[in-house]
Amino acid sequence: MKYLYGPLTSRRMGVSLGVSLVPHKTCDFDCVYCQLGETRVKTKLRKEYFDQEELLSEIKTWFKNNPEVKIDYITLSGSGEPTLDLKIGEVIQEIKNIVSVPVAVITNSSFLTEPEVRKGLESADLVVPSLDAASQDIFNKIDRPEEGLRVDQIIEALVEFRKAYRGKIWLEVMLVKGINDDLDHIRKLNEAIARIDPDKIQLNTPVRHTALAGIKPPDKRKLNKVKEILGPKCEIL
Ligand code: SF4
Repeated sequence: MKYLYGPLTSRRMGVSLGVSLVPHKTCDFDCVYCQLGETRVKTKLRKEYFDQEELLSEIKTWFKNNPEVKIDYITLSGSGEPTLDLKIGEVIQEIKNIVSVPVAVITNSSFLTEPEVRKGLESADLVVPSLDAASQDIFNKIDRPEEGLRVDQIIEALVEFRKAYRGKIWLEVMLVKGINDDLDHIRKLNEAIARIDPDKIQLNTPVRHTALAGIKPPDKRKLNKVKEILGPKCEIL
């Protein structure tokens, strides 16, 4: 299959059938912790990256061939940033017309600054946006974004999205030792997250191969302290 992968089982999403909308490692970030390696095509260019008919046909075929498999989510994520595709909103609706399985989107949040992306994601049942930094210098260090991307604008976009969106938001924070785990920064991040008001805050740490060498998770004590600051909605993945 060209667009589908899995199903994958995780504690967070249950059994998830993955859909990759953009070619391998096409992203407007180049996060130091990315498990997919360095970003190959670093771009802010939103365009049509996939053939919708082919993708929907793969989904139909997969469900026809696997009637016994219980899928908790069809997850748009894959090997790059899915909201780079212009038709993300349309494809979520089309998938929901084909199967009655909840649709989730995993995104780095950057294109939520565009009203049509926020509108498009409103059709999803679950959105898992990430937010690793509350200040521009830390954002630049950890996510290595395309030039011009501003974390304060991304935070405002997440706040706007929450106001309109009726589905679930599980906000992911990737914590990297020595980059974004300073407790003063975590307090600032907590202020931003309180305004976003997600349903859950999920703390993640780099564990496997990372884009940049030497990327480490904070120790357990620091992780627990961060969890305490972020409050009862926070869970450590
Ligand atoms: S946003 Fe996601 S896909 Fe893009 S570089 Fe970061 S971790 Fe990798």
